[in-house]
Amino acid sequence: MGKLDGKVAVITGAASGMGASTARLFVSEGAQVLVTDMDVRRGQAVANELGSAAHFCPSDVSKEDEVAQAIEQATSKWGRLDVMFNNAGFGGARGPIQSISEDDFDITVDVLFKGVFFGMKHAAPVMKSQGSGSIISTASVAGLQAGESPHLYTAAKAAVIHLTKSVALELGQHQIRVNAICPGVVATPLAHGPLDDERKQKFRDRFGRHQPIGRVGEPEDIAQAALFLASDDSTFVTGTAMVVDGGAYSGRAWHKQNELMTGEGPIKLYRPEGR
Ligand code: NAD
Repeated sequence: MGKLDGKVAVITGAASGMGASTARLFVSEGAQVLVTDMDVRRGQAVANELGSAAHFCPSDVSKEDEVAQAIEQATSKWGRLDVMFNNAGFGGARGPIQSISEDDFDITVDVLFKGVFFGMKHAAPVMKSQGSGSIISTASVAGLQAGESPHLYTAAKAAVIHLTKSVALELGQHQIRVNAICPGVVATPLAHGPLDDERKQKFRDRFGRHQPIGRVGEPEDIAQAALFLASDDSTFVTGTAMVVDGGAYSGRAWHKQNELMTGEGPIKLYRPEGR
């Protein structure tokens, strides 16, 4: 028996990375999945790979009618919507604050924040009429701590976390749960760009060394978190920003901090006098 037997999910940004991985896991757990992405070729390929339990619908999450249409396709094909996973994203505008144009601001916030808002807005009425549902959005540890990512990315992800909490407060009475996932560094094209296998491994080695758990995240790590939030294992969990980052957001280990600040070796054990 699968954890998502009989459930219907819409996953945005499902052509690649965490979204594609989640689509695979959800189908293996019994769900029917509407794979949606603006990348038609790769989105269609993911849906083809998953067979009759999946269907591809192209959509750009920054366009309200396209998000609404993806949800509509899922409900007309399978009759319900149990999980809305607002996951699509990109790096957005980079550079110093004075160099960011209004157009770059708009496209960054439209995809990373407005896209999530559209997903919540159009999933809510369907889930309300069913009296159940789980809305999951991919935020980031960058939404919890500045300095992890460019200005607008970090601000948009913080907005996703706050919107998640606000909407969770409204929809709880309808048994609709609203949660965010905050990944740390995860080996996907968004993080490492279009690399060959050798350079992907170098990325994993370089960033993995700095993670308390000793490796970077894989898309499957995030898919497992999404499965928990989508399934009935989490019926008392709402309004959370679940950190899935190998411990990186917890801070820098105290012994490493000391080495960095003092340039000295590891701290010696402190013993109060006379003990
Ligand atoms: P990815 O590049 O592998 O996948 C992102 C997908 O989103 C792509 O298929 C892309 O085509 C799609 N997409 C981008 N803009 C879109 C739009 N306007 N409409 C529809 N689809 C669009 O990257 P990923 O790492 O799997 O990213 C998934 C989510 O995770 C994003 O929201 C990202 O911000 C977030 N995230 C990633 C990391 C990381 O280290 N990879 C860390 C924290 C958060």
